[in-house]
Amino acid sequence: MKLSIHKVAILGSGIMGSRIASLFAGIGIPVLLLDRAAQDTIAGEASSKRNALVNDALKKALTATPSPIYSKDGVKLIRTGNFEDDMSLIAQCDWIIEAIVERPDAKAALYEQVEKFRKQGSIVSTNTSGIPIHLLIKGRSEGFQQHFCGTHFFNPPRYLQLLEIIPTKYTDPKLVSALVHFGDLHLGKTTILCKDTPGFVANRIGTHAFLSTLHAMEKTGLSIDEVDALTGQLIGRSKSATFRTADIVGLDTLAFVAKGLHQFCIDDESRDQLMLPAWVEKMLQQQWLGDKTRQGFYRKSTDASGKKIFLSIQPDSLEYTLPRRTRFAAVDAAKNNEDIRERIKILLSSDDKAGDFLRDLFYRMFAYASHRVPGVADNVHTIDAAIKAGFGWELGIFETWDLMGLETTLEKMKASGHLPASWVEDMVNKGNGCFYKLNIGKPFAYAPALSEYIPTQTPQQERAFLVMRNFAEQKIWENNAARVYHLGDEVIGLEWYTKMGSIGAEVLEGMQTAIGIAEKKFKGLVIANEGPHFSAGANVGMILMLAMEKKHEQLEQAIKIFQDTMMRVRYSGVPVVIAPHGLSLGGACEMSLHADRICASAETYMGLVEMGIGVIPGGGGTKEFVLRASDEMHEGEPETITLKNRFETIALAKVSTSAEEAFENGIFREGRDLVIMNPNRRMGEAKQSVVSLFEEGYRKPQERTDIKVLGKSGLGTLLAGIHIIEASGYATGHEAKVARKLAYVMCGGEISEPAFVSEQYLLALEREAFLSLCTEPKSMERMQSVLKGGKPIRN
Ligand code: NAD
Repeated sequence: MKLSIHKVAILGSGIMGSRIASLFAGIGIPVLLLDRAAQDTIAGEASSKRNALVNDALKKALTATPSPIYSKDGVKLIRTGNFEDDMSLIAQCDWIIEAIVERPDAKAALYEQVEKFRKQGSIVSTNTSGIPIHLLIKGRSEGFQQHFCGTHFFNPPRYLQLLEIIPTKYTDPKLVSALVHFGDLHLGKTTILCKDTPGFVANRIGTHAFLSTLHAMEKTGLSIDEVDALTGQLIGRSKSATFRTADIVGLDTLAFVAKGLHQFCIDDESRDQLMLPAWVEKMLQQQWLGDKTRQGFYRKSTDASGKKIFLSIQPDSLEYTLPRRTRFAAVDAAKNNEDIRERIKILLSSDDKAGDFLRDLFYRMFAYASHRVPGVADNVHTIDAAIKAGFGWELGIFETWDLMGLETTLEKMKASGHLPASWVEDMVNKGNGCFYKLNIGKPFAYAPALSEYIPTQTPQQERAFLVMRNFAEQKIWENNAARVYHLGDEVIGLEWYTKMGSIGAEVLEGMQTAIGIAEKKFKGLVIANEGPHFSAGANVGMILMLAMEKKHEQLEQAIKIFQDTMMRVRYSGVPVVIAPHGLSLGGACEMSLHADRICASAETYMGLVEMGIGVIPGGGGTKEFVLRASDEMHEGEPETITLKNRFETIALAKVSTSAEEAFENGIFREGRDLVIMNPNRRMGEAKQSVVSLFEEGYRKPQERTDIKVLGKSGLGTLLAGIHIIEASGYATGHEAKVARKLAYVMCGGEISEPAFVSEQYLLALEREAFLSLCTEPKSMERMQSVLKGGKPIRN
């Protein structure tokens, strides 16, 4: 069954409803967003008054940061209305998603209205996070029940990857699989089929994990700050770690979910772990709920000098004190390792207090998760996928257990009283020493009910879901930073692991080598990586060091190598497809500009940000923008305006807030570059692109010698603009200086009349400008500040 979703209705415009509406509109599906009619209004009054509640809610959502919508254009697709006047409009919708207050009576009353107006065959679903789905269909017609299920989006729906689908025994199974497919492909979500059990999968496991953190903290006597230092990015979770996240979510919300689980999960072997510690109950009584009441686990304050500081609560006294930050040997040993798997191994095997705490926490999680198979999920993979997508964890629970060694960990867990489900021991006794296995890049997970390993992907997903790391046994080349794998179907892949994905000499060597290998024996190359971000750009540390040491020749050589590598990407004999995600800045953007195709994750933040460090794009980015401006000059706009638009994108260091916006910023090209909604499909789609480009008869392109530059006439216009901006105080003197260099290069240097030039000519100009700016004291100051992790300074 194929779903045809041409229009959706979202009922409820609160936190979730308005954001789910934005998600659908962002992918081009028209939305009808309804909520209650404004109080003190009556039918027949102007719709602006009647719809005040929904309009205000939507407005509030759309001005939130980060934005809930991929592109501002999508807003036009949302039509608002109210339940009293506009309910009949749901008859036009193929899918009706209810996201109103978490009260069964309110939901039931609304469904009665939905039943009256929905068209036959339309899907109805609820976003409830806790009400059992089967209770919500009582009294509804057969047709309604067959088309009803839970569709649990996580907050914020644009950014959190999980969508849980919870059918009842009446839901049409064909509809369920079609929804799972739709969620995966069109909404880009890790879409998981769940059983109708309390908290479904992610909240059940995630809430237990949160409470386990509190229990492990009590046991090991660590402070709030110490626990946050150990449970954030260090172990592949969000920066806000445990308690900062709890303050953002709200203790009342967390307590509501935890208490619900404790009430309903009466058979859980470790039900006591689902209880809140007494000191947290006291915080709830005091209404210390987190950010919404200005104090929770943390409270903002100021020190004697007036500087803002965060105090944290002491569980025994409930007093707020200065953070206690202990230096742990385990953290020192792990923190600089870029590989999350290596960090986890170091941390969990260390014998200091940090190791004790993390082992206790993880053993609790391992045991609890194992007992939820098969009651909550049929296999380990579902639990791992849900927790990773729902809470943004880099590693799943069973993946972590595998890393630590299943058998040895099992023994240690038993010794410390954290008993796992019996199937784990059975599995080990049958000679199965891990939860996951790979077979030529394809992941398999152990299914206890079958006592065998089954693929973690559906046959449709197999081609599209690809993880380079899974091809470790197909590695064909590596250096200290980069690796090249054969990904099957005669396509190779290059990935790298450096801090923030920075591109230095070894990554460039990897690119040159991979292209060479591909040209000899393969159809083409995919360039991607699985770090938290694709890349923050070129290695600024190296540039700064050479600039400070005045090693100008070496610096020039380094820039030349960068440019040559980008040109190699552009002019290789095989298709090169780049699959960026997250931050893709500076050099990473330049690399993408030179690819045959970009297959970008929907969440790609790309731009030429070199201005921030006081230089111009020197890896071919400036050249590529001039080339594109030249190609656009026949499109009707005055040529200087075309060039000015391109110039401003670099001069203002514009970064797209989504892949969609990268089209608007002139970085992605319509008809060639692709946005991949589901991050799991990014690399697989890139591989498919390589194959299709090859099969379409890919031929090495010819270097361009026909790039139109405007010379002095264009330069005059750009310089006048820079002068105005500098004079009005919007740009510092140094920024104006860099902008003038940029204008000079973009207009073709010392050329008086419009002329046609080659790429190499522009690259030489770009190199010269980059070099001269690098050694400017103010640019070096900017680089230093970026390297220290601060915001770019404006000097
Ligand atoms: P919210 O309080 O922000 O919005 C609820 C909406 O329901 C409001 O717009 C309100 O006008 C409407 N409403 C209130 N009483 C009503 C009634 N009697 N009849 C009809 N409408 C009524 O809530 P939310 O956080 O957006 O949650 C909506 C649903 O999504 C709930 O079922 C919740 O459990 C679930 N959910 C919430 C989150 C989250 O983080 N907020 C995450 C996942 C799921």
